[in-house]
Amino acid sequence: MKEKIVRDFRAATSSAALASFTCACCARELLIGDRIRRQHTEVDLGMLEGPHADSGYPTPPTPFTNGPLEGKLVDPHGVISNDVGQIILELCGSCSRGLHRKSLPKHAIANKLYLGPVPDALSDLTMVEECMIARAQAKSWIVKLQEHDSNSTSPTAQRSLKGHTIIYPQQPDKLVGILPPPVGETLTFICIIFVGSSKMTKERLRNQAKPLVVRREKVRQALVWLKDNNPLYKDVEISEQNLDSLPLEDVLPYHIENVADSEARETLVSQYDGLEGQPSPDVSSTHLRALLLLMSTHAHL
Ligand SMILES: [Zn+2]
Repeated sequence: MKEKIVRDFRAATSSAALASFTCACCARELLIGDRIRRQHTEVDLGMLEGPHADSGYPTPPTPFTNGPLEGKLVDPHGVISNDVGQIILELCGSCSRGLHRKSLPKHAIANKLYLGPVPDALSDLTMVEECMIARAQAKSWIVKLQEHDSNSTSPTAQRSLKGHTIIYPQQPDKLVGILPPPVGETLTFICIIFVGSSKMTKERLRNQAKPLVVRREKVRQALVWLKDNNPLYKDVEISEQNLDSLPLEDVLPYHIENVADSEARETLVSQYDGLEGQPSPDVSSTHLRALLLLMSTHAHL
């Protein structure tokens, strides 16, 4: 029974089982087990044209400029060509059923949900830069970074966490009126745990942990764009003083907790001991020598 439980657990959490795809119709990223493939000729593409130009909704440029998908609101990440040149749409169950019934799926980007390409000023922001332009934080992230040379395609490498969430009623804080926040405030919500035999230095962090880098001009451009274009940022004050305290391009002085390799290995393998005929889970030092970055923002949860 023990062996079966471990086998089932590995199968359910393997890279193959957790691989994802993007639905061409609603642009959601979902587990590959939910994927339905349809040739473009099997789908009534006329339904995916989006609102008419005279409907009052903005009509940003559509993703495809030629071929049968020209002018259609589909996510290019969910469109593939097969060996014989046919265009295949990858769809989630609800979109596939909706299109089959000839009714526009509720979540389809063609259902007035398409916003167009992300403007340059807001693209390519790192995770910390995104935190610095947000008026409210309602999410937490746990990010696991690995060395370039580690075997990230290992079928048993951990890729996700899944569990129950408990939500309590909260009185949310007011939206932030001055951005970016002072550096000290941003640091409060970031925790870095480094697992490895050698200590993590700021130099290594700068080169290996791109999501932690902050670029002063990038933050400034994003805020200026939002103030000019987003009504919800119209009254936000951009603090030159806080901007000037940001590095031109560097990591912030984060608190780093170093955990020795051996301690982590002991914890990880102890539960799997004694399984006959089973290779031990993939806990080679390359996998343990990963960066664990926990970003917990305005803790409403
Ligand atoms: Zn969908």
